[in-house]
Amino acid sequence: MGKLDGKVAVVTGASRGIGRAIAIELAEQGATVVVNYSGSQAQADDVVAHITASGAQAVAMQASVASSDDVTRLMNGVVEQFGRIDILVNNAGITRDNLLMRMKEDEWDDVIDTNLKGVFLCTKAVTRTMMKQRAGRIINISSIVGVSGNAGQANYVAAKAGVIGLTKTTAKELASRGILVNAIAPGFITTDMTDALPEDVKNAMLAQIPLARLGEPVHIAKAVSFLASDDASYITGQTLHIDGGLVM
Ligand code: NAD
Repeated sequence: MGKLDGKVAVVTGASRGIGRAIAIELAEQGATVVVNYSGSQAQADDVVAHITASGAQAVAMQASVASSDDVTRLMNGVVEQFGRIDILVNNAGITRDNLLMRMKEDEWDDVIDTNLKGVFLCTKAVTRTMMKQRAGRIINISSIVGVSGNAGQANYVAAKAGVIGLTKTTAKELASRGILVNAIAPGFITTDMTDALPEDVKNAMLAQIPLARLGEPVHIAKAVSFLASDDASYITGQTLHIDGGLVM
């Protein structure tokens, strides 16, 4: 018996990294998982194969969260196939780092479109279904830099801070319909996204973390399954920092 038995979950950007770990954890807890991806179908299929090999149910569905047409197609497809959406995890995200003075307009737009507008589009697209159910959980993956700021990431930080504001507002708007909305702000988690950073940047970050180690995708995944479960039925509008104590 898992704590998410019978639930249907959509995880955006779930073909690798944190999204992959979230998809696997939700399936381990009994949920049927829709593994959304925008790029590599092979990676998404690999996540689905991993989940189905353990006896749980999962499907891969392509859609860019930055496209309203794609998002509508995705969420309609989920309801057609599974009849409901209990859990939405807005995980998809990109970085286009640059100093403010060098940041190009398209670097700003791409990050805002995926990391902030994508959360708005996916949230809006599941809201009608969750309202009819009078139940739902939405978990938004923000970032600790959305709280603290970070030089060289004006676009990313603005989007992630926006996600925290969006979380609080949707939590207030949807509470009376039984829909709970929370955010997670990861610190420095080892994934392809952070592997791309220079070694000196990683070491400088490590030196500031009280727990003196980097996070793993599973640390985020465990918190997502908690927030999606009945154990978190009195928590909404919150942002949970999972960062080894980096920002207190
Ligand atoms: P990642 O780059 O490994 O994975 C991101 C995923 O999002 C990829 O599968 C990618 O294909 C997908 N994606 C990108 N654009 C998309 C789109 N338009 N539509 C659908 N999917 C799309 O990164 P990650 O480290 O696993 O990050 C996952 C989330 O966690 C992101 O929102 C990221 O900002 C956030 N985060 C990561 C860290 C970290 O240290 N890794 C820290 C804080 C926050």
